Amino acid sequence: MHFIHALLLTTLVATPLLGMANTCDTGRLQSPINITASQKQKLPSLVFDYKNTPLVLANDGHTLRIRINNHSQLKVGKQIYALSQVHFHTPAGDQIAGEVFPMGAHFLHKSTNGQLLALVVLFRLGEPNKTINTLLANIPKQVGPNQAIENTSIDIHGLLPTDKAYYRYMGSLTASPCTEGVEWIILKEPITVSAEQLTAYKKVFPNNARAPQPINQRPILESI
Ligand SMILES: [Zn+2]
Repeated sequence: MHFIHALLLTTLVATPLLGMANTCDTGRLQSPINITASQKQKLPSLVFDYKNTPLVLANDGHTLRIRINNHSQLKVGKQIYALSQVHFHTPAGDQIAGEVFPMGAHFLHKSTNGQLLALVVLFRLGEPNKTINTLLANIPKQVGPNQAIENTSIDIHGLLPTDKAYYRYMGSLTASPCTEGVEWIILKEPITVSAEQLTAYKKVFPNNARAPQPINQRPILESI
């Protein structure tokens, strides 16, 4: 009797939720995207003030996440965004003219007034990346919360290309609830990861990227 009552209650509560629009399916400003056309123009320059940080990592079962809490900042013109975490996708998710990049890093930032900004670094296969080596050597074996890695710090600049030219568009979180209004910056110059490094990462986190989403007439800006 109690069981039936509980079941009934679940049904009543669940029904209105089913009627709600799911932004992941119905949103029109979703990420990632395949950039096939862009408007070249003068855009604010990017100034990276990322500091060396004691390594704190989490394995959330989908990705490897570096937790950052040391006043590392990205300046886009006059706007300042604090870096809170970096995580990785294989493949990158975002594409340029249909090119699929085997790996991408998402740098998540927030401004003081709460604006979210995701910065993407794309990887091609090539030379190994030193910072990635440090990360691979310390992937938490268990899925769980942040873990401080003893006596290890990380140079986040080691995950950035030399050239800071970029694309910019308005998008969303790439996982549910796919909230829109997230600024996206995609650095145009890819960096490299070796085939061995990629294999080692994918052994723990295989194929964790969302497919490119419709652009729907969104302007894609390209810095000159
Ligand atoms: Zn991501």
